[in-house]
Amino acid sequence: MVQIDDAGSGSLIGGTCIGAMRVETKEFVFDFIPVESYYEGAFEKKAYIDKCEEIVYSLISKLNVSKREEIQICQGYMFETVRHKLKQEGFNINSTKIKDPLQGAIENTFQEYALSLGLPAQYVKYTRYPLHFHRILRWVYADYDRRHLLCKTGWKSWKKYGHLNVEISEDILYKRNYTCLKCGKRIKPGSRVKVLRYTSNCPNVIYLHHKC
Ligand SMILES: [Zn+2]
Repeated sequence: MVQIDDAGSGSLIGGTCIGAMRVETKEFVFDFIPVESYYEGAFEKKAYIDKCEEIVYSLISKLNVSKREEIQICQGYMFETVRHKLKQEGFNINSTKIKDPLQGAIENTFQEYALSLGLPAQYVKYTRYPLHFHRILRWVYADYDRRHLLCKTGWKSWKKYGHLNVEISEDILYKRNYTCLKCGKRIKPGSRVKVLRYTSNCPNVIYLHHKC
């Protein structure tokens, strides 16, 4: 039996991982819908759904899935068209909520990917709400010019919160254990810092190294 699911479709940064696993052997293959499919312009045309379909077909072919083997595929709307097509072609499709072993594997794969994009580990792991929108948004505003390119800019929430006014000033930071959200290194207490302020769903203050 083969399971198919996604991870990361709800994350503001990065694309979405699509994975497939043969449960009996744990053979695991995956690919990513690139973030560009979620950019403003592409998102409205549902480019990510076309890409999802393409990837599902390629994963099925990589695993040599026959029409007799059961395929359990995630119930999400992203898979709606490909589920329909596969059924029509005579594949043995079951739409269901996907659990382990695929779920754990694909979530790990997405976490590794998020880390590779530069997202700090404490945003991705060790948290009850990984990849929380407003937390990621802080990270994006800390280096907006580069990081806005990693965002699903076709989202409504990006339209609302992705172009906020950022006020920049300077200060001395006395807090201990503060990490610069731009370079990821500690800021020594008592040093000069750049201060970014913006209001999303609440007022935000971000401190960066003076030269960052
Ligand atoms: Zn820094």
